Order: sequence, then structure tokens, then C-alpha cells
Amino acid sequence: MQTLRLDVIGDPIDHSKSPIIHKTALDMLGIPCEYRKVRVLKGGLLEYINEAKALGISGFNLTMPHKMDIIPYLDFIDDEAKRFNSVNTVRIKSGRLYGYNTDASGFVYAMNEMGFGARDKNIVFLGAGGVAFTLALKMQLEGAKSIKVLNRTLSSAQAIVQRLDASNACALPLTFESMCSAVEECDILVNATPLGMEGIDKDFEDLSFINCLKDDALVYDLIYNPHRTNFLKAANNRGLYILNGMGMLIYQGLLADEIFLDRTLDFAPIKQEIEIKLKNLKK
Ligand code: NAP
Repeated sequence: MQTLRLDVIGDPIDHSKSPIIHKTALDMLGIPCEYRKVRVLKGGLLEYINEAKALGISGFNLTMPHKMDIIPYLDFIDDEAKRFNSVNTVRIKSGRLYGYNTDASGFVYAMNEMGFGARDKNIVFLGAGGVAFTLALKMQLEGAKSIKVLNRTLSSAQAIVQRLDASNACALPLTFESMCSAVEECDILVNATPLGMEGIDKDFEDLSFINCLKDDALVYDLIYNPHRTNFLKAANNRGLYILNGMGMLIYQGLLADEIFLDRTLDFAPIKQEIEIKLKNLKK
């Protein structure tokens, strides 16, 4: 069997867990694979694409700062990726580039696994970066009842809401008072800021807004390192449902593998193995 050649590109890229995720999956499937981390600086996409084609790379994953910049180079873009204006997976077939976004579906898969869906739910996002927009739009597409986007820079939250169906979405400042009132009716609260992340010395100053949530709410942090942020610890102490970003990370990778391989996969055993590998990594 021919070796499948895949890459993940970005800058920075050293921290990427993608090789572990994809190598584990492809090893379990018995598919010989070479998966490289390639540092591609902003502005370096064309050079990389030419190199990838010359080397016979079958596909690549993308992280910061390329998810939007790749779009003009694609021969085809999937409908959702087009709506998100963000691509994290590219398949190269007969020299043509096909772009997809698996981040939002990865987010949904992890949430569904916990027994939560978006339909008729009030959803609050803390943060208004690239991922918050993708996920807020996905939640609307999945039938959310309302979306609130809270951000330190209010204009960024407003810009997201303008790109959503504004009939059930609103933008608010990321102040303690507004967090308290925004989460009152909330079913799913998502932290889409880096607050509490390993290596970032900033965290939520006062987490008592968690006390304003309903008892059956899901508190979802996109961060996976540390495994349990102070945000999730506060929610756990209150007895709420909690979820970190690890499931989203793994599922977006497995969904990308389905695209690279053009086949559906049985995710459960592969995800379990990847979780073990990622946990061992920290020891
Ligand atoms: P981004 O585009 O850089 O946006 C960062 C957001 O966080 C902005 O809204 C920013 O607010 C806010 N923020 C940054 N520092 C802050 C601070 N000190 N206080 C308050 N707000 C602050 O990032 P992104 O790509 O959307 O990613 C957001 C988070 O999701 C990151 O933690 C990332 O690691 C995580 N993520 C996880 C996965 C996964 O698979 N689990 C995938 C992608 C991303 P301003 O607009 O005011 O600057």
C-alpha cells in the first residue's frame, strides 16, 4: 500500500497535536502514513502549495494564520466552510485543492457525546475571535434558540452578530455584570477566549457568574490544556455539566481523516486510543 502523505501547516506549529491524532488513527486503520508539521509563515501559502503538490501530499490541515487566507487558492470550497469563511482541511486530488471546515462539526460531535444538542438552546459565547464566529454560526444552523456573544472588545462581538441571523443573536461587553445577566437563561456556556490556558498568565478575575447558571447547563471550555481550567472547576464545583476542548480537537481531526480517506470511520475506538496517547504525553 502506498504511504499517505499529510501535513499540518501553521505558525506557530510546534505545539500542534495533529500528528498524534492522525498517526494514531491511520495506524489503527493499517494505513501507512507520513504526517509532518510544517511551519508556514503568513504569506507563504503559495510556496507551500506548490511544494505539497510536487511532493505528492494528499492533504493538509491548517491552523493559525491560514484558515481564511487559503480560500483564494482553493478549486472547491465546501458550503459550510464558505459560510464560516474558514478552512481547516484541504484535500489535494489530481492537483486540485478541495477545502473543508471540520472545527464546527468537531465541536458538535463532542457536545452530542455529552447528550447536548443546539436545537432550541440558549447559547452564550465568551470571546469573539475566529472560532467563536464559526461555532456561533454552526449553532444557528443547528437550530439554537438564541446566541449571545460577549467580548472584551465589543465591536468584534457586534461584527460577529452582523454576520449571523441577527433576529436571535446579540452582542454584549465581557463585564462581570453582563456575564451574570447573559448566563441566567443559558443552556450552553462556551469559553472561546484563551483565559485560563496553560502558558497564558490571564484568567477570569471573578468566576462567581457561574452561580447565575441554571442547574442543568453545560459549561464548555474550548481549552484542553490544562484539562480542567478554573472556569470548568468552578462549574464542576456547582455540579454543572462540563466539557473541555479535547473532544472537539480529536473529532475535528477524525472528520478530516474521513475527508482524506473518502470513507466513514468508527470514531469511538480511535478516539479512545488518541485520548490515552495525549494523556501520556503530559506525564
Ligand atoms: P482569537 O481569534 O485569537 O480570539 C481570541 C478571543 O479571546 C478574542 O475574542 C479576544 O478578545 C479574547 N481574549 C483574548 N485575550 C483576552 C483577555 N485577556 N481577556 C478577555 N478576552 C480575551 O482565537 P480563536 O482562534 O477564536 O480561539 C479561541 C480559543 O479557542 C483559544 O483558547 C483556542 O485555543 C481555542 N480553540 C480550541 C480548539 C479545539 O479544538 N479545542 C480549536 C480552535 C480554538 P478581543 O477581541 O478583545 O481581543
